Amino acid sequence: ELPRASRTHCPDIRVSFEFFPPKTVAMEALLWESINRLAPLGPSFMSVTYGAGGSTRERTHQTVARLAKEAVVRPAAHLTCVGASMKEIDGIVQGYWDAGVRHIVALRGDPPDGLGATFEPHPQGYKNSCALVAGIKRIGDFEISVSAYPERHPESLSLDADIDFLRAKVDAGASRAITQFFFENEIYLRYLDRLRAAGVDIPIVPGIMPMQNFKQTAGFAKKAGASVPQWLADRFEGLDDDPQTRRLVAATVAAEQVLDLVDHGVRDFHFYTNNRADLVYAICHLLGLRPKPEQKEAA
Ligand code: FAD
Repeated sequence: ELPRASRTHCPDIRVSFEFFPPKTVAMEALLWESINRLAPLGPSFMSVTYGAGGSTRERTHQTVARLAKEAVVRPAAHLTCVGASMKEIDGIVQGYWDAGVRHIVALRGDPPDGLGATFEPHPQGYKNSCALVAGIKRIGDFEISVSAYPERHPESLSLDADIDFLRAKVDAGASRAITQFFFENEIYLRYLDRLRAAGVDIPIVPGIMPMQNFKQTAGFAKKAGASVPQWLADRFEGLDDDPQTRRLVAATVAAEQVLDLVDHGVRDFHFYTNNRADLVYAICHLLGLRPKPEQKEAA
């Protein structure tokens, strides 16, 4: 019997990490502690989200610009179409180019009233993520990542319509998609087959969400259209008041998920870190990643 890929050394594993911009001084310290812990693992990039409605415009920019300046790791800035004119968004994109940032995660974003409300583009704004991707490409030759939804986006008419929309984002210039998180690998693997059959051939990097807080993540998953299987709920049963065990279980569950994906030939992983390093660091360790001493620490 051949050894499973996850049990052997896979030198070609690549990871990326997602953070959100900090709101307070204490959160900022935690964020940079996490960045400095994870950077030596040599991720392909670290991305920083853009708050709903553009609410974190400045903080996203500051965090990404600091990553770029200190050359800790290649940064990627998330950007949405919400609440700004094309001119304003183009100004943000140009600012990133000038700061040496070359990778943008381009999204439509959610309506200011949250998921479930109808998205109304800004009157002078980009009307959707395809238009945003094309607009960014006009400003500079950025690397552009976009979203992908293995269980389809809650607003899409069907999975096929969703796949057509992803293809349009690729045609507009996207070269990588990062998926919404999912917990059943079968869902992702079937989705990947459908994308390949539909001629979408860019990397579709699985977004991995270690469940730091089961209840909170399950609530968010429901709104985002990501299913939470019963077996997963069972694993966290009775742990609501036991954060320590919950974290160990969360790391174990996510490790099982990524190792199974490795066995299915997946080599790229994007981690939703929630600005915390420890779980993600442990999972990356199991993936065979080790700190590279030459990686510089941020000041
Ligand atoms: P799109 O890919 O543009 O659209 C999603 C689906 O809706 C399409 O596949 C399509 O089926 C349907 N659809 C949309 N427009 C049309 C149309 N005109 N015609 C037909 N069908 C259409 N949100 C933030 O606010 N900030 C972030 O930093 C952020 N980062 C994210 C990172 C990742 C990896 C992911 C997966 C999501 C992120 N989001 C973020 C959430 C995202 O903004 C929401 O899911 C939003 O509702 C959709 O934006 P999108 O770019 O994913 O949608």
